[in-house]
Amino acid sequence: MKFENQSSYSLGHRSPTSKEALVGENGSQVTLVSQSALGAINRGRVLQALYDNGPKSRADLARLAGVNRTTITGIVQPMIEEQLLVEGDAVPSDFKGGKPARPLYFNPDAPMLGAVLLLPGKVQTCLVTLAGEIRAVAKAEFDPQGEKDAFVAIIKKTLSSTLLQAHKAPFGIGIASAGMIDSDNGVILAVNLAPVLTGLPLVSILQKHFSLPVVIDHHPRALLVGDRWFGPGRGQQNFAAIYTGEVLGGAFFIDGKVYRGLAGSGGELGHTVVQMGGARCNCGKHGCWETVAALPWLREEASKMGMAEPSKISCARLVKETEEGSGAAGDLLDRYTRNIAVGIVNLQQTLSLNSYVLHGDVAGGGPAAAERIKAHVEQSIIMRPGQEISVTVNGIGEGHTALRGAAGLVLSSHLKLVI
Ligand SMILES: [Zn+2]
Repeated sequence: MKFENQSSYSLGHRSPTSKEALVGENGSQVTLVSQSALGAINRGRVLQALYDNGPKSRADLARLAGVNRTTITGIVQPMIEEQLLVEGDAVPSDFKGGKPARPLYFNPDAPMLGAVLLLPGKVQTCLVTLAGEIRAVAKAEFDPQGEKDAFVAIIKKTLSSTLLQAHKAPFGIGIASAGMIDSDNGVILAVNLAPVLTGLPLVSILQKHFSLPVVIDHHPRALLVGDRWFGPGRGQQNFAAIYTGEVLGGAFFIDGKVYRGLAGSGGELGHTVVQMGGARCNCGKHGCWETVAALPWLREEASKMGMAEPSKISCARLVKETEEGSGAAGDLLDRYTRNIAVGIVNLQQTLSLNSYVLHGDVAGGGPAAAERIKAHVEQSIIMRPGQEISVTVNGIGEGHTALRGAAGLVLSSHLKLVI
């Protein structure tokens, strides 16, 4: 299937127009922020204010942003003309003495965003409305060790079944993928648990097939974008997302921006070393954080301790059994949360983000798991006066945060937002 009249572009080529480089006498480059980049920052902030506060009039947005109405109108008018935003019926202003105003919000008839979550052996697709609602979910399984052609056929079929339910051509498709991703070139470089994906130029394959813009990013980074637009990261300038499951991953939001590193290679947190000479990791090295704080470790420890059904162990189960008085569950929960905390401590000492959002298996443990991790982190770092460490869970299940994040990547790319 193909949608007409959509240009193709990749996430990686978004930056050259946003900065202008000057070459100094000694050959060093000086980069300046251009007017178009400032426009992107302002568009992003206005959209974030709508996500954070719900429908708001131009006057209310101007007051919230500390700018005049003319400035806000200059930012929102193109988005109204593009039918991304609509004006609702007049309501009294939020602010005392304000005239009744017409609130702006996301147009329910605007094109939706296509989203894909790709994990070893599993693909999930959906449509996401501009307000973050998930529609037309489809799921499929694939052989992680299988043939590339078979995988490509499965992802095309699954995505087609979702996209066919869109009332108009989506803005594009965002992919959140496990593994090491080259987001600039749209290639999956390596997935330890799914060799079939290694070296796959998925962005160009799907762009060609669907004639839609396609962007791809690392799964934890999509979680981070999902947190930032629609979750506990709203309004925050610095935080990290931490995911535990078959692997451990993370991503950072630093000084108001998603940190990607060179070609999207930044944030391989699962492979930071926490144990010299430790267990061998999926990546072939030893002592990675992932070897002591992901599900394979948890299963092995549960088995060593003689717990029932160690293959079905999860953080949610450990919390429940601990609350029911199981000493073994309490002990394992304490070690699991301590091991997760170790990596957070290193991150905190390096970047001082102060705020951590948990996803995946550990998020299934809810606030009880988050509290334990926070306590372990606070024990291991020297707290500055007045410093607060926040550990929260974003436990929206079934990959919905990652799917929303993948959609957020498309939205950012479409509107050239700085995220
Ligand atoms: Zn590793």
